Amino acid sequence: MQAARHHVRLMSMSRTLVRSHVHAQKRFLTASTSRAQSGSVTSTGAAASQTPPQPPSQGRWRYFLQTLGRVTLITVIGASATFYYLAQKEKNPGPQLPFDPSKKTLVILGSGWGATSLLKGLDTNDYNTIVVSPKNFFLFTPLLPSVAVGTLNARSILQPTRYLTRHKKRQVLVIEAEAKEVDPVNKTVTLSDDSEIQGQISSTTIPYDYLVYAVGAETQTFGIPGVKEHACFMKELHDAEKMQKRFLDCVESAAFPGQSDEEKDRLLHMVVVGGGPTGIELSGELRDFLEEDLKSWYPELASRIRITLVEALPNVLPSFSKELIAYTERTFKESDIDILTKTMVRKVNEKSVVLKGPDGVEREVPCGMVVWAAGNTSRQITRDLMAKLPEDQTNKRGIIFDDYLRMKGSRDIFAIGDCTTSSYAPTAQVASQQGSYLARAFKIIAQKDKLEADLSRAETSEEAEKLKKQVDKQKLKPFHYSHQGSLAYIGSDKAIADLPIFGREWTSGGVATFMFWRSAYLSTLFSLRNRSLVAGDWMRVKLWGRDVSRE
Ligand code: FAD
Ligand code: NAD
Repeated sequence: MQAARHHVRLMSMSRTLVRSHVHAQKRFLTASTSRAQSGSVTSTGAAASQTPPQPPSQGRWRYFLQTLGRVTLITVIGASATFYYLAQKEKNPGPQLPFDPSKKTLVILGSGWGATSLLKGLDTNDYNTIVVSPKNFFLFTPLLPSVAVGTLNARSILQPTRYLTRHKKRQVLVIEAEAKEVDPVNKTVTLSDDSEIQGQISSTTIPYDYLVYAVGAETQTFGIPGVKEHACFMKELHDAEKMQKRFLDCVESAAFPGQSDEEKDRLLHMVVVGGGPTGIELSGELRDFLEEDLKSWYPELASRIRITLVEALPNVLPSFSKELIAYTERTFKESDIDILTKTMVRKVNEKSVVLKGPDGVEREVPCGMVVWAAGNTSRQITRDLMAKLPEDQTNKRGIIFDDYLRMKGSRDIFAIGDCTTSSYAPTAQVASQQGSYLARAFKIIAQKDKLEADLSRAETSEEAEKLKKQVDKQKLKPFHYSHQGSLAYIGSDKAIADLPIFGREWTSGGVATFMFWRSAYLSTLFSLRNRSLVAGDWMRVKLWGRDVSRE
């Protein structure tokens, strides 16, 4: 309501402004015409007859400029008013319906891609909805490597979950806690607040009628010694922040007076493990930081900074087309990023990594920082849940689900995103499509549940028959994934894209693809607030570069 009032006020202000602008223009034109007329009379008396007639093209030109001015003014005012209205609408949620004891309880575990897409599309009128996640926000992971080098501010890619849930029809309970155990027999979830500050109660068990399990995955370390202790990860926001600090710490330590050349080279050698999209994007971002900023602020060190990407497979980016793999490898070569393929990291030490190359020989390579981007594995809670349904959950890589995203072996648990295993890649695209599908599915499930409840109370056989027919009509369609293509940033203002267009695979790489990459992610961000913050950060970096201060 408040936002609507603001909008109406703004629209009337803009109308008044336009009117006064038009009046001012009219006054100015009348004054200048009369000045011209009177001038012609007072100056020579015969001047009027001497004034050459204006060519018709001049009048048309003036009319064109006037119209252009008006259209521009109206557009600017209209766009500003719309932007202000939308921002106010996001900022001021209205009243919500309270929980309804007659409705079923839907518990959603997680606040990532899957859970947030579900929440966005869910009609909360149908359920009492509870969201449980140790993070009270959604993280836009595709732009996380940009945060790690300071291209974007961390908060620009976060959206507090409450910014979404407070706009829903019915109240949604958001609990910042980690689910510790799911009991599929008694239909309960035990959760605990493991944050620094806790109240009197920090652990509880809640019942559910339906559970959406969307807790994602964690970084795979393969039990390689030293990874957990010495490497940085690139999965969560705190990983990106930690890496940024560590990177700048290495640079400042190398700048310490009296440091030997050998030690400088070690400190300034950055090793990225994993040639999947995360490792590639991060290496590209690191290279941009070096070229665009560090060369200016650390001119004596910049030439010593080295980036090495280590990949166990014969090539990087196995999920992209061959042309794009070759293009990426070429671009990295031009950017002085070393790619070591067919090379495994066997151990991470405090000041080095142990690599096993294609020749099978192990060698120790000194380095200042190791970033581990070697893929995903299931969380402990997921493994525990799967162990409770051993007959159906037989794949250790993740939860197996049916065509309707129902966890096999359970009627009431739905599993989506990276915590599952299927023919789909563990991507945001898959998780968000699964979330949107479930939002639609829960509408049908709610209708069916209501009809079944009515059926159980039916007094006549006719009524029962009619309701039974209606129940039978409420059928879920199986989940269908529609691949929209793959995009990745590779540094030097270049991106690569594999896009299915009219049933054909279309590949592209370069600066134009980079512009497409930016616009695609800008439009995928969930809120106007995030879009404005990210666009603002890109502008800031263009003007002033990245910040090299280390908190
Ligand atoms: P997540 O988004 O990881 O969400 C999991 C949620 O569960 C989180 O909110 C977490 O806090 C919560 N949680 C964890 N444990 C518990 C618990 N015990 N109880 C309750 N909640 C819990 N994919 C693309 O398609 N395109 C890209 O460009 C892309 N870029 C990426 C860049 C990076 C750096 C990374 C790391 C990934 C990228 N991905 C990309 C992959 C994408 O992020 C994942 O596939 C996606 O996040 C999966 O969504 P999800 O909902 O399953 O899990
Ligand atoms: P990934 O699984 O795609 O790649 C990890 C790579 O690390 C693999 O190629 C693997 O061979 C390598 N590796 C593993 N252990 C190693 C070792 N000891 N030594 C050397 N190399 C080793 O992981 P990711 O890049 O984090 O991506 C995870 C998921 O997120 C994927 O599905 C990916 O498609 C998606 N993602 C997509 C984008 C994008 O579309 N732009 C960006 C990031 C992530």
